[in-house]
Amino acid sequence: KTLVLKTCLDEGIPGPEHFEIRESPWPNIGDGVIVRLLTVSADPYMRYRIRSDGDYKPGEPMLGLVAGKILESNLSDWKAGDLFGSELPFTEIQSVPAWKAKTFRRLTGLISEDQISFGVGVLGMPGSTAYGGLVDILQPKEGETIWVSGAAGAVGSTVGMMAKQVFNCIVIGSAGGPEKCQIVKEQFGFDHCIDYKMCRSTKDLVKSLRHVAPAGIDMYFENVGGMHFEAAMQCLRPKGRVAICGVISDYNKSKMSPNKIYVSNMIYTEQTVQGFHCLPWLQGERGQFLEDMALWLSEGKVQVRETVFDGLDSFGSAFRALFEGGNIGKVVINLSPK
Ligand code: NDP
Repeated sequence: KTLVLKTCLDEGIPGPEHFEIRESPWPNIGDGVIVRLLTVSADPYMRYRIRSDGDYKPGEPMLGLVAGKILESNLSDWKAGDLFGSELPFTEIQSVPAWKAKTFRRLTGLISEDQISFGVGVLGMPGSTAYGGLVDILQPKEGETIWVSGAAGAVGSTVGMMAKQVFNCIVIGSAGGPEKCQIVKEQFGFDHCIDYKMCRSTKDLVKSLRHVAPAGIDMYFENVGGMHFEAAMQCLRPKGRVAICGVISDYNKSKMSPNKIYVSNMIYTEQTVQGFHCLPWLQGERGQFLEDMALWLSEGKVQVRETVFDGLDSFGSAFRALFEGGNIGKVVINLSPK
């Protein structure tokens, strides 16, 4: 089976009606490998790509982050049974040419087949995003205060756990609704969590933030944008740092709204705002993402929480959950049989 894009969407929330399943023939191995996908990932960046001016075209297979197992191999460095992570079309069983198979991330030895979904989560793009943004961009120091928006999600929860357990920071999260805020504090170990849905304006959000961080914040990890960014800039201390990871509150709008940057304040307070993307860490070109994260996982400093959907045809519902707040931790789509 292959998941294909049925129709593009410029404005509004995507769902199952935008995708469909097609049958695919058994592939020929060629010079590389035949793989079975065990997990595919629904991620916010895919929202840009299903716009009419995006990369995905109707009728073509969806392409995204996956984790799976080698079924047959013509390559010396990959053998049947090996586990890998990669970016591939969402076709359950497919051949992959040698040049592409050489870019696979090896997951064998790091996780068991039962944990294969970690390959699109904590040991995949969201994990590398959290790692790069916190460790290398924000460079936390013990005792500093960090605010993480989107705190119940895949990236945000991992940032908060690392900031608390590895760097001994004071960690404030924000998430939508009391149930999520409770999980952010009790399961992910944040010191505080603000229910942003109770805040009708930037002023309300600033008030909530000042209540838990009267002296302000040293770092802000941006996942949401809009009102969250404005509130962070009003509470950022001198020498404060902001990592711009994503602005999900903008993704379903027909035009992206520009964020206001408080430039003059930034000059005199020597603050740093930096955008970044995960690829240098995910591809192993910067830092030691896989080694460090696998260690912190085994030590229990970082824990995994997932919202699991079953089967390729549940992709649309999984994707919609990201924009309706229907997930806690990483959204994964498990494909059977394992
Ligand atoms: P999440 O697991 O955090 O899922 C998305 C969450 O965003 C939802 O559960 C919801 O939580 C929240 N959300 C959705 N719409 C809104 C809105 N309008 N206002 C406020 N919150 C909203 O997703 P990820 O962890 O995968 O991604 C988090 C961010 O990181 C995204 O902005 C994404 O684009 C970015 N990203 C950036 C990368 C990079 O390389 N720079 C790589 C990967 C992700 P709630 O119920 O709390 O509202």
